[in-house]
Amino acid sequence: MNVADTERAATGLRESGYDLCTSEADADVVLINTCSVREKAEQKVFTRVGEIRSAQSTGRRVLVGLMGCVAQLEGETIFERAPVDLVIGTRATDRIPSLLGRAQEGERKVIDLAERDLNDSWDVSPVERHSPHVAFIPIIEGCNKFCSFCIVPYSRGRERSRPASEIVKEVKRLRTLGYKEVHLIGQNVNSYRPRIEHGLEDFRGATPFSRLLRAVAATGMPRIKFTTSFPRDFHQDIVAALEENSNLCDWIHLPVQSGSDRILKLMRRGHTRSDYLSRIERIKTSKRRLALTSDVIVGFPGETEQDFRDTLRLVEECSYDGLYIFKYSQRRGTPAANFTDTVSEAEKTARFLELERVQRQAQEKIYHSYVGRTLSVLAERQSSRSQSDLTGHSTCHKVVNFPGHNGLEGEILDVLITDAKTNSLYGTKLDRLEVG
Ligand code: SAM
Repeated sequence: MNVADTERAATGLRESGYDLCTSEADADVVLINTCSVREKAEQKVFTRVGEIRSAQSTGRRVLVGLMGCVAQLEGETIFERAPVDLVIGTRATDRIPSLLGRAQEGERKVIDLAERDLNDSWDVSPVERHSPHVAFIPIIEGCNKFCSFCIVPYSRGRERSRPASEIVKEVKRLRTLGYKEVHLIGQNVNSYRPRIEHGLEDFRGATPFSRLLRAVAATGMPRIKFTTSFPRDFHQDIVAALEENSNLCDWIHLPVQSGSDRILKLMRRGHTRSDYLSRIERIKTSKRRLALTSDVIVGFPGETEQDFRDTLRLVEECSYDGLYIFKYSQRRGTPAANFTDTVSEAEKTARFLELERVQRQAQEKIYHSYVGRTLSVLAERQSSRSQSDLTGHSTCHKVVNFPGHNGLEGEILDVLITDAKTNSLYGTKLDRLEVG
């Protein structure tokens, strides 16, 4: 989401006559996009501002601004904590050029934490996209779930879904520009619920999101991925849509957070272990092999050794293709910040490492099971390790490395997998394209 916001900010800035440079040493304005999901990310921002200010040559006035979640949450207080000129909230991205204009005219402590304008544009110029082959498309902003640990409802406000007609138009445009893959993104994509039907009329489905998936699949975009899905709103019709449309990719990210019903209740997730497992059952018994990834928080306040064992068992049972593990981080203003944090930092680390070990074992097996199989891979860029290798993702969202020249970048290739590590696959390109 932050990458997508940065792309939009850059689009607006360039349209207003700014140039983007690659080094902060050349910049007259430095904007830092921030994340506040965990405390560490938030602390880094202030260190970064200090580094930028101390690297500045004397006599040159450089404007420094914070945008994103830290800006939205901390507001005015940022001016006391750090030498910044602008604080730009999460819904003010489109107003950045005018805010900068005010700062350049000498106004001090420019701040905008207001809501989006009704006519805000979601347009992103292809020049600013993070990749010429893969594009992020926000379909829903904000969050209404209020999980007790999570800051997002406060930093990004309530859920707002974009009209389907607008999303489909953007996908079609990206297709004509040669993009091969789009990611429909949002805090909870499957809670998608636009105020108007426009764009969904011709597509059936049990939920607005599964109808949107079918509408986007009908554009003919070669590869469509979506993240993140929220377990409570995960309708089995999503799996049906994936079974019907091969361009909807075979990967689902479904964060569970804990395997203990007691902790799930304290987390206010709105799902039990068995609700979650019934969704997994539908995914695992699909006609297509669907890759599955998840998020888990260890050391939530009150998490006992038994609760943690329940999480370990669930992770083993789900046999995830990938798992993001987080140590619980207390976020001011969330309900869980008032719970007594009973798990010591050392215990959180121990649980993190044990879960990581269990996941690594399962993941190694899964990754090795791909050896000898052929995957469809989008060649995204040259590998950072070697100039003669390319790297990209499979439809099941695995990183795949293989020998190839940069003329193949942007092509979808068949790659025979010959080796596997814990987090990536290695292979050789088959000659389908050259033959065809
Ligand atoms: N909306 C998605 C959901 O709730 O299923 C996830 C969005 S969140 C930005 C990404 C992940 O960060 C979460 O799934 C959770 O595992 C982790 N996270 C969020 N708040 C956290 C906290 N206070 N401490 C540690 N991890 C946290």
